[in-house]
Amino acid sequence: MQFTFWGVRGSIAVPGPSTVRYGGNTTCIEVRGDNNELVILDAGTGIFQLAQTLFAEFPIDINIFISHTHWDHIQGLPMFTPMFVPGNNINLYGARDIVENRSVKDVLSRQMEYSYFPLRENELKSNMHYFDIQDQQDVQIGSIKVSNFLLNHPVLNFGYRLECGGKTVVFTGDHEWPLNIYAEGDPEYSDYQAFLDLRRQQTLDFFRGADALIIDTAYADSEYPSRQGWGHGSFDASIRAARDAGVKKAFLTHHEPTRSDDQLEQVFEQALKRNGVCSSDPAFFLAQEGVQIEV
Ligand SMILES: [Zn+2]
Ligand SMILES: [Zn+2]
Repeated sequence: MQFTFWGVRGSIAVPGPSTVRYGGNTTCIEVRGDNNELVILDAGTGIFQLAQTLFAEFPIDINIFISHTHWDHIQGLPMFTPMFVPGNNINLYGARDIVENRSVKDVLSRQMEYSYFPLRENELKSNMHYFDIQDQQDVQIGSIKVSNFLLNHPVLNFGYRLECGGKTVVFTGDHEWPLNIYAEGDPEYSDYQAFLDLRRQQTLDFFRGADALIIDTAYADSEYPSRQGWGHGSFDASIRAARDAGVKKAFLTHHEPTRSDDQLEQVFEQALKRNGVCSSDPAFFLAQEGVQIEV
């Protein structure tokens, strides 16, 4: 199995000289199975560049798994050119929005309403199939088994675990390690903490032993206290999780859009040092647009 980063930036695309090394596009990862099956994780603006590389494979089967429907994870979809070409089969998987009671088909259709886009969803020429997937429902894409796990974010967010030929890649989508909502000393505190501890164990089990963990690490730890509850991880939290789950490599992603490449490297180096990361730990990397990883 191999994967390629096409978008590693969080929240909004930020092209420009200060982000040219790690990339300015929002979340999109191409995964290829052992039989060249194509799975795309999230459809941020990075999916547009990915699309330009697919023409030689038309007609093609494409399987897009959406972690959640915040703009930065779906904004590239209407411009995903394979959707406009007859003969292509495109399967789109994601969680149903249980608050607004919307299917995953609405994710695309609403982005292509008259006010926002020149073409309607029903004008797409490829064979489009939409799948509302349930919590912990497995999907088999040829040689790749895709499992999901609900992670903590201010909308339903699935993390995905892809297993193929004995190798495993895990992608969190957006995720913040949940905090106790009760103050220490509150009668509810310990029960809630026990629930959080269990949830953490289950999440680590979902990550367990991955050859590559791609994990939301939006915030520097100095930024995190003022952004608690916004739904994103920090460097210290991601390093701890990768260690506790015994993953081989961890790719930190969803880079904060205001951070330049130089600042990103600085925050990363400081975090490795502060956490005493050594050779017996997982190997840590900053996710970088255009980089292909073989697992
Ligand atoms: Zn995001
Ligand atoms: Zn989000």
